[in-house]
Amino acid sequence: MSVDILSLDIQYLKGVGPARARMLGKEINVHTLGDLLYYFPYKYIDRSRVHQVKDLHDDMPLVQLRGQILDFEKSGTGTKKHIKAFFSDGTGVVELIWFKGLTYVERTYKVNTPYLILGKPGRFGHRFSIPHPEIEKAEEADTHPTPLQPFYSMTEGMRRGGMTSRTIQKLIQTAFDTIAERINETLPDYLISYHRLTKLPEALFTVHFPEETKALPEARRRLKFEELFFLQLDILQRAAQHREAATGFVFAHVGQAFNDFYLHHLPFPLTTAQKRVVREIRNDLRTGRQMNRLLQGDVGSGKTVVALMCCLLAIDNDFQACLMAPTEILAEQHFATLTQMLQGTNIRVELLTGSVKGAKRRTVLQGVADGTVQILVGTHALIEPTVRFQNLGFVVIDEQHRFGVKQRATLWEKNTQPPHILVMTATPIPRTLAMTVYGDLDVSVIDELPPGRKPIHTQHYGERDTGHLYDGMRHELRLGRQVYVVYPLIEESQHSDLIALETGYRRLCEAFPEYKVGKVHGKMKPAEKDTAMQQFIRKDTQILVSTTVIEVGVNVPNASVMVIEEADRFGLSQLHQLRGRVGRGADQSYCLLVTHKPNLGDITRRRLGVMCETTDGFRIAEEDMKLRGPGDIEGTAQSGLPFKLRIANLVGDTVLMAEAREAAARVLKADPQHNLPQNEIIWQQMQRLKNGIVDYSAIS
Ligand code: ADP
Ligand code: MG
Repeated sequence: MSVDILSLDIQYLKGVGPARARMLGKEINVHTLGDLLYYFPYKYIDRSRVHQVKDLHDDMPLVQLRGQILDFEKSGTGTKKHIKAFFSDGTGVVELIWFKGLTYVERTYKVNTPYLILGKPGRFGHRFSIPHPEIEKAEEADTHPTPLQPFYSMTEGMRRGGMTSRTIQKLIQTAFDTIAERINETLPDYLISYHRLTKLPEALFTVHFPEETKALPEARRRLKFEELFFLQLDILQRAAQHREAATGFVFAHVGQAFNDFYLHHLPFPLTTAQKRVVREIRNDLRTGRQMNRLLQGDVGSGKTVVALMCCLLAIDNDFQACLMAPTEILAEQHFATLTQMLQGTNIRVELLTGSVKGAKRRTVLQGVADGTVQILVGTHALIEPTVRFQNLGFVVIDEQHRFGVKQRATLWEKNTQPPHILVMTATPIPRTLAMTVYGDLDVSVIDELPPGRKPIHTQHYGERDTGHLYDGMRHELRLGRQVYVVYPLIEESQHSDLIALETGYRRLCEAFPEYKVGKVHGKMKPAEKDTAMQQFIRKDTQILVSTTVIEVGVNVPNASVMVIEEADRFGLSQLHQLRGRVGRGADQSYCLLVTHKPNLGDITRRRLGVMCETTDGFRIAEEDMKLRGPGDIEGTAQSGLPFKLRIANLVGDTVLMAEAREAAARVLKADPQHNLPQNEIIWQQMQRLKNGIVDYSAIS
């Protein structure tokens, strides 16, 4: 392998040195020149565009102003301490405001010096204020190499060490001045021309120093493609290895347990989609390879019964099965559902959660160990080492997004061979994304709801509509239906949220004296929560006030109204999950979104609008990504990847991802032994990535 200039230690770059090198390594994982050049800007600002204070209005994104600081004002004490600067450009005055780094501000910024500032203005009384603006001396800003200024993520530590986004850009400039000619391509020519990609040195340069807006997207596409190509290559390789290596238990026949259930106990005919999925899984289980399958299906699509039938297949082949849920409430629900569906059969189902204690726990564990417990339902308590199965063959994981990859791995060790794994999720993610995030998981989709479901009516109520809201609830209660009222409960502000929930609870008790109101929230003891849930399930209570603990999986078909308080504080997918708690029977159900703010922002209004318009989970997920940006989903999705992505976006770049996946598949197919000369460059780069020389690290 030729000497790779990008693997040189960063400390030898002019302007770095040992101390800065240590900081770069520690703060942003930049150790080599390659790491630095692959430290991409997260945004660009067109600095040729300067606004005037008099033109500022509400809802403006980042703006740039040119002017001077007239005066500083310090106020507050302790944590409330802050500094204000009155900044004028001759057309008006804005307040700049800092709550952190006050010493630095005092030391650095001066009155009557021309500055260029950048920040997001917000109206504060009669004036605009800009919290924590980016500030640069005007004369320095005027020497920018290009008007499109890149911004690099900075950590607190780097800022304290006196580094700015500009410092990074300068270091990158120096790096280019020194080594530009010696940057090697990482992709073979035939891929570059086939996919019409920019060459690597040019792409790297452009992404840090975009001279014109036109070249930038092409440069970014090249770098994203490279990243996704190697990601897919790695994933496909692992998948191929896994297919070869992972022998799985053979579930050769369909027997008594499955057939008896199918013929005599199935409470409803399966939908076509359910049948297809059961068939897909059955086929998988006979092949002798270990199954890893993701089952996607919108809320209410009927995943549980599919899971149960797979468990029965395991039993027919003398294996045990288990079903793991993310919360106790859900585990209990599943246990209740399975027990009910299996009534009249002789299959033994048990529940194991943190609250199953003492003699009962010992009995269950004993039964699991001697094989008499055929299906074990529970929370992650199932993967504790004390739980020893006699012969575990099939594992269902419900609502995967709450389970870590590590926990999944633990399950593999529960038998001499890894059991088959079925992961069920209602989170609709695009197929390419699922294949990437879950690597070698196969995907099944239930894309059809059970017949007779009426789409849930969704309406938005403002603060003043409480009368109407209560009328709506009362109408349903009189019909013998039940109502959920959900309050937001966000970690940091738990206390005030809890008060809101308690107040709401009391108000409902007063407004509906003829009905019983229950409540469930995360601060209650598990036993209390359980009692409250059971009362609601048994219809002892008709209204259930709760937090999002009921978000996933809870199934009370008689509940027909879902009231969501402060709906503006929930994410779209959360609203969709919550709404999925009603409309589980054949009757018309309602979701009532309540907000209390006099003015809702545009985005909030759009989000609530989407909820009122559609009940299609995939459409909602799409809108969610559009409105919110893919950040969140991506954050959770990324944790499942072998490489951390630096420029490509799992959600936003699905088209390019599919292209890269195809390219990677073609390369693997044509060159299984890795010995074609034209691909040498690929395998070398792959090796470098794996060695962490270009430190994509975070390999799990
Ligand atoms: P999810 O996919 O959200 O986990 P569940 O498995 O909880 O959905 O099913 C939702 C509801 O639909 C349950 O009450 C279940 O009994 C019912 N159900 C499932 N499949 C069918 C079907 N084929 N026909 C009628 N009802 C069904
Ligand atoms: Mg479910």
